[in-house]
Amino acid sequence: MRATKAIIHLQNFRHNISTIQAALASGTKMCVAVKADAYGHGAIRCAHAAVEAGADMLAVATPEEGIALRKSGITQPILMLSLCAPEEVEAVVHNSITPLVFDEEYIALFAEAAKKACAAPYPVHLAVDTGMGRIGVLPEDAAHMARAVMGTGVLVLGGMGTHCAVSDSLSAENRAYTEQQFSRFLQAVSAVQDAGIAPGIRHFANSAVTLARPDMHLDMVRPGIIAYGYYPDEITASYLESISRPAELRPVMTLETQVCAIRPFRKGQSIGYGRTWTAAEDTDIAVLPIGYGDGFLRRFAQGGIQVAIRGKAYPVRGRICMDQCMVDIGKNSGIQRWDRAVIFGVPEDGALQSADDVARLSGTISYEITSCLSPRVERVFVD
Ligand SMILES: *Cc1c(COP(=O)(O)O)cnc(C)c1O
Repeated sequence: MRATKAIIHLQNFRHNISTIQAALASGTKMCVAVKADAYGHGAIRCAHAAVEAGADMLAVATPEEGIALRKSGITQPILMLSLCAPEEVEAVVHNSITPLVFDEEYIALFAEAAKKACAAPYPVHLAVDTGMGRIGVLPEDAAHMARAVMGTGVLVLGGMGTHCAVSDSLSAENRAYTEQQFSRFLQAVSAVQDAGIAPGIRHFANSAVTLARPDMHLDMVRPGIIAYGYYPDEITASYLESISRPAELRPVMTLETQVCAIRPFRKGQSIGYGRTWTAAEDTDIAVLPIGYGDGFLRRFAQGGIQVAIRGKAYPVRGRICMDQCMVDIGKNSGIQRWDRAVIFGVPEDGALQSADDVARLSGTISYEITSCLSPRVERVFVD
């Protein structure tokens, strides 16, 4: 196997899901987001582990993601969070994937496919736009659209959901915005009920709301990032402790590689494309077989990323290449060729930082770090 790999600690994943579940009122359902290949962790293994740990539903973004789960034997409901193309609708229905709908044209496509497949009653969830500005019907049109769903005679309203724009932020303004989104959502639910239609499963909470706002859990929560062991943006372990809602999350992924060469460098020698770094004194350079083609992005080097080898952190020098990068290990480091080099992950694997630390260094979020790991990086599952 290639030296560069992502180790996926499924026991940590299950631990995180159990931690989330312990904070839910009994009867509250959990839909775990496994979209984008489970945020880069491997959707099929993670989906099965999530179900074992108590997930009631799984969320995907695309039909293919849902179909892959069905082929792997997942029988739980699968919620599709993004819109698909008209040509994909039949396959979605054929695989019993539950779409989010919010307009008449899209509803008609699903009604037609469900009729053709003799799949009535076919549940769909109504997406409500309460302030994210992405997909969803406006709250004032929710009742009308719920009637459109029921009026097809084949589709039924299985649930209603909305998505938060700033729930991971702790500023007063953003907290007020989330409150407003919540009340707009409840208004939409009431309007549907007043039209004599049962709203089904009401869901509002992403990871941030799941951790910080139990009063907003409603019938189901939709956590993603916390299942993979990272806090959403400004929500941190210490913040949660301060509001007496501690949650101990464990990162699931370790990204590691191997020192594939050690090269003595003379003072004045330059490294890599653009010659952006020159040795100020004699040193040793370790070459690692990982680059932006693996998802080890060029901008990590600008952020000053370090790599852990034998328990110590060493800086990447020069630009990260597509398939390789170079690390300054200094003289007499004791590092040997073929030593393990850990980019980020769990301490037991020798990591000195998490994907969250890497994200902060390079001005992004942990979501992007793990989900941008390319398929070239083999996922190795540890149960
Ligand atoms: C991705 C996604 C989630 C999960 O978000 P996290 O911040 O990872 O918890 C929940 N709901 C919707 C609609 C999403 O697109």
